[in-house]
Amino acid sequence: MDLGGHVENFSYAKVIINISHESVDRPFTYIIPEDLKSRVDIGTAVTVPFGAGNTPKKGYVVELTDTTDVAADKLKSIAEVSDRDISLSDKRIALAAWMKRNYGSTMIAALKTVIPVKEKVKESVKKTIVRLKSPEEIREYIALNKRNASQIRLLTALLDEERIPKSILDDKLHIAPGAYKKLSEAGFIDICENRVLRGTVNLDVAHDFHLDLSPEQQLVVDSVRKDFDAGVNNTYLIHGITGSGKTEVYMQIIDDVIRRGRQAIVLIPEISLTYQTLMRFYKRFGARVGVMNSTLSKGEKYDLFEQAVNGDIDIVIGPRSALFTPFNNLGIIIIDEEHENSYKSETMPKYHARETAIELARMSKASVILGSATPSIDSYYRAKTGEYKLFTLTRRLTGHQLPNVTVADLRQELREGNRSILSRDLQALIEDRLNKNEQIMLFLNRRGVAGFVSCRACGFVVKCPHCDVSLSLHRNGKMVCHYCGYTTDSYKTCPRCGSKYILGFKAGTEQVEEIVNKMYPKARTLRMDADTTRKKESYEEILSRFLDHEADILIGTQMIVKGHDFKNVTLMGVLAADMSLFAADYRAPEKTFDLLTQAAGRAGRGDKPGDVVIQTYQPDHYAISFSVTQDYEGFYEEEIGYRDLMDYPPAAHMLSVLVTGADEKACEALATNLVQGIREHFKILVIGPAPATVSKINDIYRQVFYLKHKSYDALVQIKDFLEEALSSRKQFKENVFFDFDPQNGV
Ligand code: ADP
Ligand code: ZN
Ligand code: ZN
Repeated sequence: MDLGGHVENFSYAKVIINISHESVDRPFTYIIPEDLKSRVDIGTAVTVPFGAGNTPKKGYVVELTDTTDVAADKLKSIAEVSDRDISLSDKRIALAAWMKRNYGSTMIAALKTVIPVKEKVKESVKKTIVRLKSPEEIREYIALNKRNASQIRLLTALLDEERIPKSILDDKLHIAPGAYKKLSEAGFIDICENRVLRGTVNLDVAHDFHLDLSPEQQLVVDSVRKDFDAGVNNTYLIHGITGSGKTEVYMQIIDDVIRRGRQAIVLIPEISLTYQTLMRFYKRFGARVGVMNSTLSKGEKYDLFEQAVNGDIDIVIGPRSALFTPFNNLGIIIIDEEHENSYKSETMPKYHARETAIELARMSKASVILGSATPSIDSYYRAKTGEYKLFTLTRRLTGHQLPNVTVADLRQELREGNRSILSRDLQALIEDRLNKNEQIMLFLNRRGVAGFVSCRACGFVVKCPHCDVSLSLHRNGKMVCHYCGYTTDSYKTCPRCGSKYILGFKAGTEQVEEIVNKMYPKARTLRMDADTTRKKESYEEILSRFLDHEADILIGTQMIVKGHDFKNVTLMGVLAADMSLFAADYRAPEKTFDLLTQAAGRAGRGDKPGDVVIQTYQPDHYAISFSVTQDYEGFYEEEIGYRDLMDYPPAAHMLSVLVTGADEKACEALATNLVQGIREHFKILVIGPAPATVSKINDIYRQVFYLKHKSYDALVQIKDFLEEALSSRKQFKENVFFDFDPQNGV
């Protein structure tokens, strides 16, 4: 088999009849008549004879195959192929089929991703908080009750908007239940119950409200509108720092689109959907907006989708899965913070919302807008090569100053006798802020770190000679490459400088908190990491306690650098900027640059200027030096050169195949066997198999191998080949997972 691509002539089609939400489960096999072969494909709507009476039924092709175990006398033929014009549900079938083909999974899994399960739910009661007193009375009360932060946040919000849905206040402003009670007893607020459908919020009037756009903003809006009206549907990338007016542009374009009778989907990482952003959408579009978030139950999600089908809402804001909102006439898909990892699904089908959105838009004749302060290398590359249209917003419209970013070289600190995890510069600033009663965030950059080994004296990091990723230290004292399996003994001394401080990096947030408590016994600390936020409420609770200034210092992992605006935070310390650089992941520099840029954006959101201290062993690494100067373009040029050289996405495409199994030997054997099969049938370089970064989870062993190719379709062919090979060994089918252009540590 070569990788040129060829159309196969299949004999049978598996057809799902009358797809409804209850019965996406079982496809039936039909013969494809010779004269229909060219017209039958996955996702095609067909008419087939069904049941004893051979009643004609509409169905959808979900799979093509050359073999069947259905007895020949039981097989019937497809009667007709329906028109090319795809109806709503056809479109979703076709999208599911596209996802199955491009990401690898079963058709059922793809359909279930696209179509939510119908579930009966009780009508729920939504509450709205209504302000009862005048702004003067409220300001007076606030002046006298400075200590009760939760009440003050609530009242301040009500000064801006008289009626606010309680769900927004709970979710986004973290108002404590006691605050509603107190203020209601004191006659400041009324808690109204209104029966509404779940998922939307009823604001009575949408304010007619918009700003005069800057020339840069206007250019984006005009270009998109001109294309849209000419029937040209593009993907646009808006590159603009936080505060440069991207959201304002989105809203203007949405306004244009819904005026033309079309609908809009806005994807936004849940963690970044702040109260301010949500309220801006409500003020502008009122009850035409539906919000999807992870607290919605399946039934509530279904309701929201039903409102979309019925035309009760025009805009849905939500995370990745909001993409599948079944609008009748979708006009635009906006993906904010498009570089975020949460847009890639971690379960099969492992789809990327960006690519899937572009495909959905193609099918719907809609446009796609991507926005970010630090666009993904993939998107920026596509913008530079002309696949997307690029716009840049260069000016900050908020008037806030950019924070002052400095670097602390930890090698220098060690040389000068400071063995603490806090550099002297950072210590001085911490003392200063504690004295001023301002808040501090300490960010421990631990993303994707699996025990990489580095020299504390010179910053040297042990890397694989074949793969250019860091080696991971295992319990047995060996260092292993998770890309290729290369193994070596760990070093006693640094091969570069001879220091004996060459260690696996272990420090966690708990240790940092201990050290900080010892150094600043009077400071109150809070910690936020995977351990302290197991439950969703605890994440919200820690945020609200920090907002209420119950702590002076918040110590945490990357979750503290995203999302919330803490107006009183004037210092951000990045404790180990380079840690995320050495994850066994070719995207490590990109993620590091993003995280550091975001972290820098956390300090000085209020009126006071902010400081950011980036502590690092490698101030000269391009991911760090370019983040200090906030030079995205410089970073991109360096990074794309590297991707090009190594054939990593977007310069080429990559397919990672994960093979799992309870039996270590069998798992290894299956992986080896699949790799052999590929080598026999294709001329392509296969890397591995080797144990995955996490080589065992819950006693299930994990082997992984990778392929790289310039053509995505070539990789799809290999995926198809593997799926075919696995289909004859049913017991293995659920043990193999495909990941195209992986995002998280390969
Ligand atoms: P981004 O989404 O890029 O972070 P926003 O759209 O949120 O930027 O804009 C940042 C701030 O600037 C917001 O408070 C917004 O109301 C304001 N803003 C945006 N566009 C304009 C404009 N054309 N004129 C005045 N203020 C604006
Ligand atoms: Zn060294
Ligand atoms: Zn290697």
